[in-house]
Amino acid sequence: MINQLDYTYKDRVWCGKINEKYVNKEVKLYGWVHRFRDMGGILFVDLRDRTGIIQVVVPIELKINKLSLEDVLEIVGIVKERPIENINPNIATGNFEVVAKEIKILSKSEPLPFMINEDYKDIRDLKIDEATRLKYRYLDLRRLQMFKNMYFRHKMIKYIRDFMDNEDFLEIETPLLAKPTPEGARDFLVPSRLQVGKFYALPQSPQLFKQVLMVSGIDRYFQVAKCLRDEDLRADRQPEFTQVDIEMSFISKKDIFLLVENLLNYVLNNLGIEISIPFEVIDYNYAMKHFNSDKPDLRFNYPVKKWNNSIKINLNDENFDINQAYYIFFKNLVLARKELDKLNDFLKQNNLKFLYLVCANSEFKGSLVKFVDINEVDNYLRKENQFYDGNYLVFVISSKNYLDELILIKNYLVDNRLLKPVKDFYFLWIDNFPLFKIEEEKVGNKLIRKISPEHHPFTNVLEEDRAKVYMIYEQLKKNPNIIYDDGFVKEVLAVRSLAYDLVLNGVEVASGSIRITDIEFQKIIFEIIGINEEEANRKFSFLLEAFKYGVPPHGGIALGIDRIIALLLGYNSIREVIAFPKTQSGSCLLTKAPSEVDPIQLKELGIKLMEVN
Ligand code: ASP
Repeated sequence: MINQLDYTYKDRVWCGKINEKYVNKEVKLYGWVHRFRDMGGILFVDLRDRTGIIQVVVPIELKINKLSLEDVLEIVGIVKERPIENINPNIATGNFEVVAKEIKILSKSEPLPFMINEDYKDIRDLKIDEATRLKYRYLDLRRLQMFKNMYFRHKMIKYIRDFMDNEDFLEIETPLLAKPTPEGARDFLVPSRLQVGKFYALPQSPQLFKQVLMVSGIDRYFQVAKCLRDEDLRADRQPEFTQVDIEMSFISKKDIFLLVENLLNYVLNNLGIEISIPFEVIDYNYAMKHFNSDKPDLRFNYPVKKWNNSIKINLNDENFDINQAYYIFFKNLVLARKELDKLNDFLKQNNLKFLYLVCANSEFKGSLVKFVDINEVDNYLRKENQFYDGNYLVFVISSKNYLDELILIKNYLVDNRLLKPVKDFYFLWIDNFPLFKIEEEKVGNKLIRKISPEHHPFTNVLEEDRAKVYMIYEQLKKNPNIIYDDGFVKEVLAVRSLAYDLVLNGVEVASGSIRITDIEFQKIIFEIIGINEEEANRKFSFLLEAFKYGVPPHGGIALGIDRIIALLLGYNSIREVIAFPKTQSGSCLLTKAPSEVDPIQLKELGIKLMEVN
């Protein structure tokens, strides 16, 4: 009979938590065989559970069957301090070992498809291909680093819930079986058996429900929500992913910024990560003009400056115009000889016509040296950049594409880890996104142009630009073909919205907007983006109907939690922080989903499969 009285889960001693408190005490441990060594009959077993590893010494007298890696054991033993010469500084419990009194094999493991106990510093150094890891995800998740990822994720979501609760937000679950929510991707459809021929769409986000909840007077909503989007996948995309979805009533953009900054500050501080708030806010147009990106990575923000043309560069090259020269200055950057050679190769390969100057330990090198008075240039650069001592590297260029080319150089230095980030985690708001974008599609040999929402169709316009929306609407009504007029397109793209993104280290990690609450204006937006009244009613009548009964002004945001966690933990791929992710082709290699279904199920749903090409 199992003795249930003397041991409950509360008495569990974790392998990785053995410390001086347990010395000379009896403990009962459970775990997997991480490694073992037979030293002439005495067995040394590294027992592992999710918290870490402890060495167990199994004396000769304890006869046990042959062990295999990853067998599951129950061990009762006495904790001892290890003799100094046996201390293992590489593990947290390295000062201790457990001398077993009883050992039970609870379950055997077959030979493993890959090793779990190999020494690696980082999951990215593993030599196993990802497909094998995903097929045997349960084994992969046994790795302590993977457990840490899951634990970090769990804690992050817990702190988010704590913070939101404290700010009077309610977590409300919204349906998965619903109507389409337009977020710019394809819908996953679910056929209805009870109403054959009809389909639910899985939500691309809870957008419409959260707006309805504002009409319901919930006032402050959030949800750790699964979003489902059928789109082409990349390292930072999954067909199902998690958002912290937020909506608030009676607020302005400022409130959303304040809330998210405080939320991230609270959560990250609890996770031991220091950040500074408030975050910088950059206008979309400014970002595009200066960084050529709506998600610039300002960890490496080195400004591009105009070269002062009174500082002469005596270069006989018709392509080099001193009046149109720009430069970028990297302080404290010292490149070794090999790195300089590599840099020169890179410049050549990319046909980049830079002059550069390296100042290292008061010596000057580089292609600029022979064309300038070096003392004059050195003085000028130091003064201009308020950098009076130390080394630097500077690139000078005169080209039409100077911005793109200087960014190329900067990226090269970043990719080769030659530049140090100004901070580890650089959050940044991008504000005043355009309301519309233009989509082009080739139908036959005709190019069809379409106006689409840049964010989603419920995003409100910046008040100063509202009149422009009416004008665009009128012009389109008079002449739908005006869309092929480039001047008109320019006007359309210039309309600014109340939409914003949050960027972390050059990755978009959240986006949101203040919403339209004026039904007539919403209808105009639908018309402009090509959703006619019939379609609007079919898809969104419930929202428009709800807005008739007293709708508060509202807005919100959604944070892509997988991406944030991956960035904080230093991964490029969000799959490392998702327990059961899908591959690029949308498969789950563990369960082999998606898969064929039983013909009887299809029949019940009224579905007949046909060939598609
Ligand atoms: N639903 C939006 C999204 O998924 C976020 C928002 O506007 O609140 O991007």
